[in-house]
Amino acid sequence: DSVVNRIAAGEVIQRPVSAVKELVENSLDAGSTSISVVVKDGGLKLIQVSDNGHGIRYEDLPILCERHTTSKLSAYEDLQTIKSMGFRGEALASMTYVAHVTVTTITEGQLHGYRVSYRDGVMEQEPKPCAAVKGTQIMVENLFYNMIARRKTLQNSSDDYAKIVDLISRFALHNSNVSFSCRKHGANRADVHSVTTSSKLDAIKNIYGISVARDLMEITVSDDNPSQSIFKMNGYISNANYTAKKTIMVLFINDRLVECSALKRAIEVVYSATLPKASKPFLYMSIEFPPEHVDVNIHPTKREVSLLNQESLIETIQTAVEYKLINNNT
Ligand code: ADP
Ligand code: MG
Repeated sequence: DSVVNRIAAGEVIQRPVSAVKELVENSLDAGSTSISVVVKDGGLKLIQVSDNGHGIRYEDLPILCERHTTSKLSAYEDLQTIKSMGFRGEALASMTYVAHVTVTTITEGQLHGYRVSYRDGVMEQEPKPCAAVKGTQIMVENLFYNMIARRKTLQNSSDDYAKIVDLISRFALHNSNVSFSCRKHGANRADVHSVTTSSKLDAIKNIYGISVARDLMEITVSDDNPSQSIFKMNGYISNANYTAKKTIMVLFINDRLVECSALKRAIEVVYSATLPKASKPFLYMSIEFPPEHVDVNIHPTKREVSLLNQESLIETIQTAVEYKLINNNT
């Protein structure tokens, strides 16, 4: 039933930025090294994500936007050890219930690509041959055209484009081997324009404009006490020279962009207790766990993660951050 499907889809895709996140994760899963995002009207009119990944095979196009169609799970057991970001096959399908979705794609070794549009989970007509360069381009147009209240609310909020720029900045920082761009439709200048770099510090400097030599410290934590959580954390955190009114915490767990408000709060506490000027911190942390320690299936939007042994993990990181701050700033 299309109303039920639309409501479910509206849960998965809550705002334009949720659609962008799903599309970019798909591009990363496809092995892309270049991803560009174009946005019109904060994403309500158009979101276009183009990549140079492995493309989508012709025979997969008819079912691409059916719910629970995914190429990323070979067996149910894989759910226990998920590596790729998508695994529920719900994102693209959801978009077709609340927007007009057009896919242009070409796979390796093909002479031409295909273009096809979807609505409510199904192809509108047979895929049409078309010229295409390597990879996939997905256009999402008229998002929430059939959800009038949602569209109204979003039309009045001006910060959706800012949320998208923030999202792409985070992806660009973590995936510094991939070049990203993000721009408004028709704009000459990109608001995020990352070049591939081998150094995380260069990436932070390019994307966030932070004076890395002066303002940042590298931090690594590894906890292999088998009675507790087993994890490794690598990252960069701001020192006493850095000043900002708002915390920026870029957190990736097993290469998935996530939020963990408990961890964020815990670190803010350390900063305000340790640094006299009480600046809000910049934090980039990449944490690696054995996959069975992370619950990736917790919420349809997959933003807030839940972790096994979360408290001991937070305490370990808090202690490491405090140690760093004290030893580099007194
Ligand atoms: P999931 O990512 O959970 O598998 P999605 O609905 O996000 O589900 O995508 C469905 C499928 O479409 C993916 O499994 C993948 O096979 C294919 N796909 C989507 N976007 C791309 C892309 N940019 N490049 C290659 N394949 C893609
Ligand atoms: Mg996906």
